[in-house]
Order: sequence, then structure tokens, then C-alpha cells
Amino acid sequence: MTKNMVISPKEHLGYPIGTDRKLADWSQIVEYFNLIGDASPRVMVENLGETTEGNPFILATISSPENLSRLEELREIQLRLSNPVDLSDAEAAELIEKGKTIVLITCSVHSTEVGGSQMSMELVHRLATEDNSEVKEILDNVVFLLVPSLNPDGNRIVVEWYEKYLGTKYEGSSPPYVYHKYAGHDNNRDWYMFTLKETQLAINKVHNIWHPQIVYDIHQMGKTGPRFYLPPFIDPMEPNVDPILQSGVNFMGISMADALARENKKGVTVNWVFDGWTPARAFQHYHGGIRILSEAASVNIASPIELRKDELDGRQGFNPHEARWSHPMPWRGGRWTLRDIIDYELIAATACLQTGAKFRRRWLKGTLEMGKKALNPENGPFGFVIPAGQRDPGAVNELVWVLRMGDVQVDKAVTSFKADGVEYPAESYFIRFAQPYGKFAKALLEKQVYPDLRDSPDQPPKVPYDVTGHTLSIQLGVDVVEVSEVFDAGLEVVDKPVLKAGMLIGEGKYYVFSSVPNYATKAANRLLKEGYTVSRSLDEVEIEDMVLKPGAFVVESKKGLKKLLDEMATEFGLDFIGIENPLVETFEIKKPRIGVYRAWLPNADEGWLRMVLEEYGFDYVNLYPEDIRGGALSNKADVIIVPDLNRALIM
Ligand SMILES: [Zn+2]
Repeated sequence: MTKNMVISPKEHLGYPIGTDRKLADWSQIVEYFNLIGDASPRVMVENLGETTEGNPFILATISSPENLSRLEELREIQLRLSNPVDLSDAEAAELIEKGKTIVLITCSVHSTEVGGSQMSMELVHRLATEDNSEVKEILDNVVFLLVPSLNPDGNRIVVEWYEKYLGTKYEGSSPPYVYHKYAGHDNNRDWYMFTLKETQLAINKVHNIWHPQIVYDIHQMGKTGPRFYLPPFIDPMEPNVDPILQSGVNFMGISMADALARENKKGVTVNWVFDGWTPARAFQHYHGGIRILSEAASVNIASPIELRKDELDGRQGFNPHEARWSHPMPWRGGRWTLRDIIDYELIAATACLQTGAKFRRRWLKGTLEMGKKALNPENGPFGFVIPAGQRDPGAVNELVWVLRMGDVQVDKAVTSFKADGVEYPAESYFIRFAQPYGKFAKALLEKQVYPDLRDSPDQPPKVPYDVTGHTLSIQLGVDVVEVSEVFDAGLEVVDKPVLKAGMLIGEGKYYVFSSVPNYATKAANRLLKEGYTVSRSLDEVEIEDMVLKPGAFVVESKKGLKKLLDEMATEFGLDFIGIENPLVETFEIKKPRIGVYRAWLPNADEGWLRMVLEEYGFDYVNLYPEDIRGGALSNKADVIIVPDLNRALIM
């Protein structure tokens, strides 16, 4: 009966998924998921919230109707195994028998890599309608969380661009701007800072709800290399990633590549180019989940390509023409289409779910063992102290917020305490290493030592894949102290960190505030926007026993100022000191007209820059190459910022 009610993607779209030059846009995808969620007892669809540009961010939960009816119980089992405090062996064994493997598949975080989102409709349709033993095995043993797009805004941007230029000489080109309002391709480097709405939705409403054992993220790469990449990753693997996850990645990657081999899919390679170093791409590596990444060779968005054998190329040890254990069946060239990408991805995703289902006990047992190790680590620090009273309380707050987003327990000292012989004031934070996700905290708070990898001692070191450092304390300018000895202190658990309110100290015709905390810039911009006269001091400012560094802001009092300063003292945690006489050496600041240079090619650095300017209250305009060529720049801007970009793109 179910079968007849659930329509196929073809019925919904009017063409089979993966047809050349056809792309479903985000509204069609959401509509399809909603239809199938309404029609199938195996599928539940939720809108988790709004993206940066106001599109729905959706999640489909797929399992047997029986499992879906006891989802909360299954979730509790998962979380209990992840945090097995006082869990007896007998209880654990019972939970493993009752629990299900939690698999999360996320699609098309990079929106020009269109295959994943398109494929997701066919995958959900199969699972909703097929009744063979393989589908049944998946539905009975797996709770499958499917995010059809991690970047719905980008789907809109790319599909719109593609359709606009379809049939012209620009057909199949990528949009000349970032496919996420701010981050572009860097949206997949946000998994340790959580700055984007989409990342926050995925973390708060999917990852931290379930802590899945398996997280498979679907990507595409260049056109001329292998047809499909799967893990094992190459070295280095970040040392805080549990060995059970490292072996789990290998186990799963190989099982998926094996499925592709059995379907005679050529050009599949494993153990190439992609590493497991940075948490910026791999939240799950610190939260009990393996990271599976697939990279399919791209086409021209949805337009097919034709490649001669001699147009295939190799890099980093990959020879497209050579069969090796990691690449047993070379692809000989020819036509390559969106449907090919989708076929490979469907096989890979299905194999991922099957391996999740078939080895259910392996995954649940792994969760338990990792949980036990995390609670009783063999080595490592006792924890980390973030001392109170730092130069930039806002930055401290942001660091604690990041750790809480990462499901790390953070405590705050009620009184002063001593650790490793050092006295710390009350309100210092403490992060215990022995906790389920203590390794996430450790990875972000310790200094990285990137390994010196060479093929042989006389060879140069290998170039890292990309990001090599993720010590947030250094990046945010926060002092963090690693503590090795166990200590006792009055601690309370922090839910959400609250920035301690600053205050107005004294009264006067002027108010001075330090420029050292980052949020001072937000305050200065708000004052300028409200029409106050703001200056900066050239010298150090001494007021009674307080000393502010040169550059301190000074605002002249007028009606309404005290109320605004009060608000900002609370919001930004800043102190404003009233003085009667003007400071001697100051210069007045004006709101500058800022121009941000924006070339006609996607540049994530430019996007991040806009995001920071907006967050800190700077107004700006984008200046495009034609604006620069038009000259008379002083009419347009006082300051021009040229983001980091390739020299060839500057004009
Ligand atoms: Zn990608």
C-alpha cells in the first residue's frame, strides 16, 4: 500500500534524477522530501530551521516504522553508550542488543558538487518503497539521518546560475561568486568554530542529538583524476582521533569501495590525497563518529563531459592508467555524466548503510569502548584551566561557547583554587579531560605539532592537505593552562557561558574605554552610528589605579549616552570610565567608507571579511573590478581592503 502512495522523483520532477542538464532546485527537493515524509511510515521529515539566507534546512530520519516509533528510546541508548558512567557490563550488553547503528549522510555542502543533493531523492525513495532483504536489513538495524543539503542557499545559487546560462557558451560554468553568502567552499572548515547558521543547525539539531557512529559527507572533485575517491585517508591523522575511529574509517571506506568493485564501477581509488588532520572538517572524529568522505569526479555542473584517455591525469602518486591495490580498475576515459556520479554515490551510500546495518554490534560496541576510554584516559592532562580576568573577556566567552557547542562539559570555579601549584581566581573555567568529548577540547586547546612526513629522509617534507593549526586559545588570544595534577575546587557546571557585564565607573563629560577587547570595536562603531563624537588616545591613560593602553576610545557625553553605555556594558562586557576633563593627546575618528574588493571569482576570504565587518558593525560596499577601473576611488571609499586572493584575480 505504501508503495502506491509514495511518488518517485521522476513523477515529482518530470525526468529521471541525473538526466543530463537537469537539476532539481532546493524548493523541489524540499517539496519531494515533504511528500515522501507524509506518505511513507519509514520516513520522517523535519525543517530544522533557517539558513543564512532564509531557506529551510531539512533532515529526513529513515528507519523501520517500529524503530521510528521508539526513536527517543534509541537515542537514549546511543547517548548512554557514549557516556557509560556507572554502566555495568550486563546493562551495556543489553543496550547493545537493543540499540541501532546511527548513520548520518550529508550532501552537497559544496554546492557546485551537485550530485549528492540530487541523489538523496532517489536514495530516500528506494528506502521508502523497496521491500527486498537488503533494504529491510538497513531499516531494521539503522537509524538513518539524511541531510539532503548542508548548504541549501548554495543549491539555489548554483541551480539559478546553471539554468541562466544553459545553452550558451557559458553552460556548465561555476558561478563567479561564493556559493554561500560568506563562506563559500570554507563552509566545510567551520566544524570547530561553528560560525555559520548551517553549521550550528547541523551540530545542535543532528550531531549533538545523536552523536552518530557513521557520518558520510558527499563531495565531488576535479574532472580528470580518479572517478571516485573513498577513505582510508592518507597520513597524518590527528592524534586525538580514537584508534577505533581510525580503523572504523578504513573498514567502512574499503567496504564501500568493495561494493563499487562488485558493481564494476571503474576508476575508484582509496588512500589518496585526503588526510584526517583537521577538526575543521571532522567534528565527528572527536564525537564518536567515523568521517567518510567520497569525492566523485565532476562534470560541468549537470552537463556531461567527454575525456580521452590521455586527458586523464594523476597527482600525488595517482596514475590513472595503472592498476594498484588502492585503484584496482582504471577508468579508460569516455563520456562522464551527472548520472554516473549519482550511480557511484548511490552504491556508496547504500553500502555505507549496509555496513552500518550488518555490523551493528561492531559500531555500538565501538561507541561503548570509546566512551569508556574517554572517561578513563590512559594518559593526557588532568584538564585545562582558562583563568578569569583576561585581557579579552569576550574572546574567553567565545572559546567557552565553542567548547559547549562541541558538547564538552565546562565548569566554572565558585572560589579561587590551586592547580599544579598555581593559584587561580574564582570564575576561572575548568575543562576536565576525562569526559566523553574531552579529546575535542584537547585538540582545540593544545598546540599542534604537524608531523614531518617524507617519503625518505633526503626527500622534502610533504605538503599538508590544508589547515594545519587549530589551537583556538592562540587563534582567539586567550590564555589556557594545561593542568597535569588532580586538584580539588568548588566547581559548577556551565550551560551557556554568559559574558560578565562591565560597568560605568564614575561620571563625567567624557567616557574612556579600553580598545584591547575585540568588542570595544563594536562599541565604538555603535557610538559613531548614533552620532557621538569618538576619539582615541595617543598616550596611555591613567585614571586612579587604572591604566588603559594607547588607543583607548574616548566618547563625549551628550543626552542618551549613559543609557547606551549601560546597554553596551552588559552586551559587550566593557567598562566605561567617566572623566571630567578631556585627555590631552587624542584624535577624532570618523566612520570610514570601506570598500571591499570583490573579483568576479569566488573568494572565501572576501566572504569571511564581509562577515567580520558586519559582525563588528562596519558599513562597507563591495568594489568590483569595473569600479576600480572606473577610477575616482576617493569618491567611493576612504579605505579599500583587498582580501587575500590570487594575483591573477586582482584585476
Ligand atoms: Zn567538496
